[in-house]
Amino acid sequence: MRVKAILQERRLKGKNPDSSLSEDTPLEVKEIEDAEAAILRFIQNQKFSDEIQVLLQDRKASEGLDQDSAVRKKTKMRRTSHIYRLDPFIADGILRVGGRLSNADISEDSKHPVILPRKSHVTTLIIRHAHEQLGHVGRGHVLSRLREKYWIVGATSAVRQVISACVTCRRSKASTLEQKMADLPQDRLTPAPPFTYVGVDYFGPYFVKEGRKEYKRYGALFTCLVSRAVHIEIAHSLETDSFLNALRRFIARRGPVRELRIVSDPETKMSRVANRCTLEDAKEESRMTRAFISD
Ligand SMILES: [Zn+2]
Repeated sequence: MRVKAILQERRLKGKNPDSSLSEDTPLEVKEIEDAEAAILRFIQNQKFSDEIQVLLQDRKASEGLDQDSAVRKKTKMRRTSHIYRLDPFIADGILRVGGRLSNADISEDSKHPVILPRKSHVTTLIIRHAHEQLGHVGRGHVLSRLREKYWIVGATSAVRQVISACVTCRRSKASTLEQKMADLPQDRLTPAPPFTYVGVDYFGPYFVKEGRKEYKRYGALFTCLVSRAVHIEIAHSLETDSFLNALRRFIARRGPVRELRIVSDPETKMSRVANRCTLEDAKEESRMTRAFISD
């Protein structure tokens, strides 16, 4: 649009240099349309000069004839031309698509869109403008908007090119970085019987009734670090004794444990258990566990 406006200024200045129009004078619709037509004519003359010459010659040749024979007369345009199949014609000096829609109830621009070359700065600007005006939509949407007014030779790939170069789209579609996880510890990878390397955590509490009283009970969840198998024992409280009892029952059932990893994230039940274990308790626990293993 800015390009159009600048051109408009120049045209104004060229026409009447003494004009009192300043740069702040708003442009009229007619002036903008004229500027746009001038730009279109300019790039069409750049890229389709041969075709335009042929069409002008055709028109001259058919001027003496009546309309029917003029229609039947074949154009001398090269068949290899990119726009040969578009049945082009010239109106007000602008090259437009022919076709059979003359009687359709749609705007004149849609019936006979302006032909634009693919590789042109103006074409790129027009595509980008449509793309941004529609809120950075995809190819199909941009194409249908463009076809209301323009016929771009090789439009699909031209639009794809513009969208793939759009910074905003690239940024919004970029994939987020992912954290690379550290190597797994050895005890997760060493082949061993199930429940040789074990993690443990608590869940709960659940409320159970004994007679009229209600008690809290916890689940002690043992998981095999290698095979991901799960074993659940009841812990009657968050006391250390209760945990040791659960551990004993677990070992009696599943066999000796080589390494026990206590999952004690802050704010979990297990961390409270771990906090209540004094150093002596921990020593005692490992001593007893070892006794179980050797049994
Ligand atoms: Zn975009």
